[in-house]
Amino acid sequence: MFKIGCHLSASKGFLNMGKEAVSIGANTFQFFTRNPRGGKAKPIDKKDIEDFIAFATEHNFAKILAHAPYTLNACSADAGIREFAFNTMKDDIARMEHIPGNLYNFHPGSHVGQGIEKGIELISDMLNRILTPDITTTILLETMAGKGSEVGSRLQELREIIDRVELKDKMGVCLDTCHINDAGYDVVGNLDGVLEEFDKVIGIEKLCAIHINDSKNPFESHKDRHEKIGEGHIGTEAFERIINHPKLKDLPFLLETPNELDGYAEEIRLLKSLYK
Ligand code: FE
Ligand code: FE
Ligand code: ZN
Repeated sequence: MFKIGCHLSASKGFLNMGKEAVSIGANTFQFFTRNPRGGKAKPIDKKDIEDFIAFATEHNFAKILAHAPYTLNACSADAGIREFAFNTMKDDIARMEHIPGNLYNFHPGSHVGQGIEKGIELISDMLNRILTPDITTTILLETMAGKGSEVGSRLQELREIIDRVELKDKMGVCLDTCHINDAGYDVVGNLDGVLEEFDKVIGIEKLCAIHINDSKNPFESHKDRHEKIGEGHIGTEAFERIINHPKLKDLPFLLETPNELDGYAEEIRLLKSLYK
């Protein structure tokens, strides 16, 4: 089954996101757990969640992906910002447990001049304070483009974070095609090589989701500007290889391209036509 979806607005609740996903031919989706710039999450609506779970089961949904706010920085130099990151992630995961067994993705963080090693230490320390054996949500580190002092643009850095986390079975990785191409992993010319390296450094079994985005910028640009599928430097042919690669084809693919709903529907139609 091709697991395909896109980023949706969470403002109208889970059941509505489910219906919106079906209306554009999707069987999964991503959403922000709260305003992407931070702030308070909406109260849990148990009825909405119950209805969504029934709807998702009926429509054979794949796992859904919650995305942490961009302002969450587990390795800030500012203790107050780290505390916000801790509280936000702890609350986000507790909320995700109402829809057991799904995925929660976050940007590892920016070390803001403290150095990659310090960043890795702070991120893994936070995860160790948050993760408990009973959680059913898998926490995903997103591969980053390497803008500014971002941690996670090298696969080795993600590996080092996971290495320091005690409950490793709760951890996974979300590969963003725009980010990883911007970071200097050649998913266009050498997809096999990139995935072999992923397997060697992290272990391919840790790969749980793909953010499927084209890039406005060339290889190794470290920019992080998403483009519509086929309109950027990655291109349609590379996406055809990505969605059909034996190591990737069963993962959920989530679009985060600059689109509204009708644009997403079109991209989903295109990708479905390329999926074998
Ligand atoms: Fe992201
Ligand atoms: Fe992404
Ligand atoms: Zn991005």
